[in-house]
Amino acid sequence: CQKSRLKSLYMRLLLVLPLPANASLDKYASLLTYTGPDGEKAWPKKYPFCGGVFQSPIDFHRDILQYDSNLSPLEFIGYNVPSTDRFTLTNNGHSVKMYLSPTMHLRNLPFEYTASQLHLHWGNRNKSEGSEHTVSGKHFAAELHIVHYNSEKYPDVTAAMDKADGLAVLAILLEIGPFNPSYEKIFRHFQNVKYKDQMVQVPGFNIQELLPDRPDEYYRYEGSLTTPPCYPSVLWTVFRHPVKISQEQLLALETAMYCTESDDPEPLEMVDNFRNVQEFRERLVFISFREGKLYKCFYAKKQHSNLCKTEILMWWSRCLNHYKNMGIPFSCSSLCSLFFPFCIVAWATVREQRIWRAYKKFCFTTGIRQANTKQLF
Ligand SMILES: [Zn+2]
Repeated sequence: CQKSRLKSLYMRLLLVLPLPANASLDKYASLLTYTGPDGEKAWPKKYPFCGGVFQSPIDFHRDILQYDSNLSPLEFIGYNVPSTDRFTLTNNGHSVKMYLSPTMHLRNLPFEYTASQLHLHWGNRNKSEGSEHTVSGKHFAAELHIVHYNSEKYPDVTAAMDKADGLAVLAILLEIGPFNPSYEKIFRHFQNVKYKDQMVQVPGFNIQELLPDRPDEYYRYEGSLTTPPCYPSVLWTVFRHPVKISQEQLLALETAMYCTESDDPEPLEMVDNFRNVQEFRERLVFISFREGKLYKCFYAKKQHSNLCKTEILMWWSRCLNHYKNMGIPFSCSSLCSLFFPFCIVAWATVREQRIWRAYKKFCFTTGIRQANTKQLF
């Protein structure tokens, strides 16, 4: 959405008054575009952080996930806002955003975080992809972000947004399903914020209704703002379970708004306002849930032991076949199989050096890194 860039720059020069704290991110909004010459690939030119480390969004896939038993459920304090209070909903030229009540807090994070605003990211009517985060490469239809700042250390979101421990964002993945009356409390006002800089008042409601059924199950990692200036200041909580909205509701989101102001002769539809997933190397995403029955990492606290039980069991059965094929007699009771790392160690160290060597050789030649294996046993 770069059409009104010059006008907006000019307006900002005129505006000597400080922006309200909550509006700080909007000063970048008019410069923000996802495609074309100034699209996301060009963001780092003006905003070096966008080409830097700890960038978001990312794809959640098995290799980078690690169960962490310390990830307890978040507490949502003051989320039930009475209908006599009002939220301001606005079109900022690249998303639709609702300012939240400063009485809303998040607890059970390293600091107390106070709510600032929520906004959405989505695709367009012709495709099913609109979320920023993906799971095993799969996009969801849209994504809601609830932005909070560290109010224990910083006076407002502006002061917090460029600090490493400044922000905490909740992300809710949206997919198509039945009509969602809670989301409609926001969506029914879209017609009043069709154009950039329009605003409307939304009666208060329980913001917790926007969260999925099992908010205790989530992905947690340290990342960044997904729009310029891309500061790596966000502690992300992405809920595991998506929330359903109807096809009609999604269509309203995808078609109601424009990046341009109401008097612009060339209106620009507000679509595809999601950033592509970023590289995620040598870091882990911590998860508060166990994936499947056997998904529990050995030595979960150790940073680099990504091998988990299901994978090990897979290797185990392959190795057993391998032994059979090699004609090595090898049997292990089912009880022993359950505790097979110890079984292997016992066999290897006490009885069957050759089996351990064969196992190692087989596993290494088929791709297990020695470092991981050492830590496992
Ligand atoms: Zn966002």
